[in-house]
Amino acid sequence: MAAADSSSQDRLAQVNELRWQKFPVLDDGFVCLVDVMGDDSSVVQAARVSYGEGTKKVSDDRTLIRYLLRHRHTTPFEMAEIKFLVRVPMDCWRQWVRHRTANINEYSTRYSLAIDAAQTTPVNEWRTQAESNRQGSGEPLSAELGQQLTESETELQNQMRSVYQQRIDSGVAREQARKDLPLATYTEAYWKIDLHNLLHFLALRMDSHAQLEIRNYATAIGEKIVAPLFPVVWEAFQDYRMQSMFLTRLDVGVIQRLNANAATAGTTPPFSEDAFLAAQDEGWASLKRSRERDECRSKLQRMGLVAE
Ligand SMILES: Cc1cc2nc3c(=O)[nH]c(=O)nc-3n(C[C@H](O)[C@H](O)[C@H](O)COP(=O)(O)OP(=O)(O)OC[C@H]3O[C@@H](n4cnc5c(N)ncnc54)[C@H](O)[C@@H]3O)c2cc1C
Repeated sequence: MAAADSSSQDRLAQVNELRWQKFPVLDDGFVCLVDVMGDDSSVVQAARVSYGEGTKKVSDDRTLIRYLLRHRHTTPFEMAEIKFLVRVPMDCWRQWVRHRTANINEYSTRYSLAIDAAQTTPVNEWRTQAESNRQGSGEPLSAELGQQLTESETELQNQMRSVYQQRIDSGVAREQARKDLPLATYTEAYWKIDLHNLLHFLALRMDSHAQLEIRNYATAIGEKIVAPLFPVVWEAFQDYRMQSMFLTRLDVGVIQRLNANAATAGTTPPFSEDAFLAAQDEGWASLKRSRERDECRSKLQRMGLVAE
């Protein structure tokens, strides 16, 4: 068998093994691969149309993919497409569908009875409101309080479902009967997206600032499906997006001043908080609280330039 034939057969076997495999998320959700068009080589093939055969001499496929991702030459990544089937609570789905660059076909609760499952929160998974971030969560709540919250959640969900069922049994149209179902009710959808826009979705939704529930979905899609199907793209995505860091002009200024001050004082990193404040951007200096300064400090801590 020719080498090309055997590698396409291996690919087929890999895709067939993954297809329809439901990767569980939350208590009753899942993501699964329905279909995929393309692989790492589709990105390379598309890029070589732009750059011509000459690129083969200077860069192998992996180097080319890494170059494209690093330099945001994005269109070659649009040549691969992935179709998923997902089962998601509606509150999470509401965030998901903000990503407009996908094609969606969703379960219809006008046509069919609403799925009889709502996401429940385990006793130890209730979270406090974050103090520093109005959109985020903080510490876990106590198990005692969690117990009460989970019990009242179950009661509420049962009641809402039973009111829905009463309406259906009384002959109310499904499109009207559904209006008081909780946002925790699961929905299912086919979701098809190209690799470029999928990476954009994953970068936003796997990020620590995304809500935990959608983060769990994005992580399952990324790690269980995209990583094995597009290993070279995934590696580059980790190196140049997920694990990388964006430095602003102001951040660069802080680093330059930290270095200059250290050279004068004869100090070495990690520098103290006082040294960081002495080098901060002049626009932040008069502010008691500055999110941008906090973000800059975190980046410098990650680089080992400022003490934790
Ligand atoms: C942590 C977090 C918090 C958020 N908080 C809020 C919030 O409080 N309120 C809120 O409403 N939303 C919020 N969002 C949603 C956010 O504003 C985006 O709508 C969502 O992340 C989709 O991103 P996108 O538009 O880049 O993606 P997509 O819709 O997939 O688009 C991908 C890219 O295509 C281009 N594009 C797509 N459509 C258009 C268009 N019509 N015109 C021009 N360019 C286009 C853009 O470059 C875009 O980045 C939040 C998102 C995150 C991750």
